[in-house]
Amino acid sequence: MAGYDLKDGKYEERHASDDELWSALSVVFTSKSVNDTSYKFGFLKAIIDNLYNVDESLKLNFDQLFSKFGEIYWNLVLKYGLRQKSPTKDNRETSLERILHATVEKYQITEPIPYESLTPPMMIDISHRIKVKCKENVVGALFADTRKLFYSFNKKEEWLQINPEMYTFICKHKVLIEKLNYYEWAKFLEKVNEEDVTTKILNKIDESSKRNNLSVYRKILYDEFESRTCFYCGKQLKPDDIHVDHFIPWSFIKDDNLWNLVLSCPKCNLNKKDKLPNIDFLTRIVDRNKTLLIDVHKPEMKNYQPKKLIRIYDWARVNGYSEGWSPRLRA
Ligand SMILES: [Zn+2]
Repeated sequence: MAGYDLKDGKYEERHASDDELWSALSVVFTSKSVNDTSYKFGFLKAIIDNLYNVDESLKLNFDQLFSKFGEIYWNLVLKYGLRQKSPTKDNRETSLERILHATVEKYQITEPIPYESLTPPMMIDISHRIKVKCKENVVGALFADTRKLFYSFNKKEEWLQINPEMYTFICKHKVLIEKLNYYEWAKFLEKVNEEDVTTKILNKIDESSKRNNLSVYRKILYDEFESRTCFYCGKQLKPDDIHVDHFIPWSFIKDDNLWNLVLSCPKCNLNKKDKLPNIDFLTRIVDRNKTLLIDVHKPEMKNYQPKKLIRIYDWARVNGYSEGWSPRLRA
């Protein structure tokens, strides 16, 4: 893998056409990029899943990237039993698989549990170990493969900064790029795994970073707002039946951010599903988020800006999300 040993790298600061950007990015999906492991697919997913967690200069730190990377692989390798490397005679594993299996031993985990069931200190431990090992293998390699048009990085300072032109390009074509990444990743996994573990493989890849337990956010939102009504229909919420809804659908945003979560009645949540709410609700959530911009929620609201949320809403539309959902209100 060319470039893997680079300590840092700078993206080319010049105008690049959409054709050039596309051609640079698509190297990841073609045979020109030699794939002995699935690292590049996984790292690209970790970047894309973090797309809206960038700071104002489009930087992500390695902790953000490798905690996501670790979560994705924990679920794929341990929960679904998917190998990530072509079989060798001595049945060698990737460094990442070795780290994951060592962690399972260290914490004496006997069953394949999902990542979200681990304790926060365990998550930090795993993410740290993966970061130390994998930053050496993958960050420089993807930088070189994408012809210095994707990002700048610094391994010592542990950050990656996305080229603004590439950032806009990916946001505009996010759903397609994601699908292509999953498709090639799935092909790779089907090649190196037995058939019994590769059923529903695209779902397994897509949902490898999905968490079902949003109770932390439910509690924050419940405690913060006294009115305790459904964000959409305004009905009083029943304390034991409150749903946490991703305002911009999870399937687009691929992350749980406090600024994108609202409390909803089950009916609205289940009826809304994957749709974008009516534009009136966008104004309402921007207003709602003002209330959350207080010290105690600083970590959860880090990198939030109203204009960012409005842009993501627009990008979801560009990516084909149907807009205009609103609850059917009885007169
Ligand atoms: Zn409702």
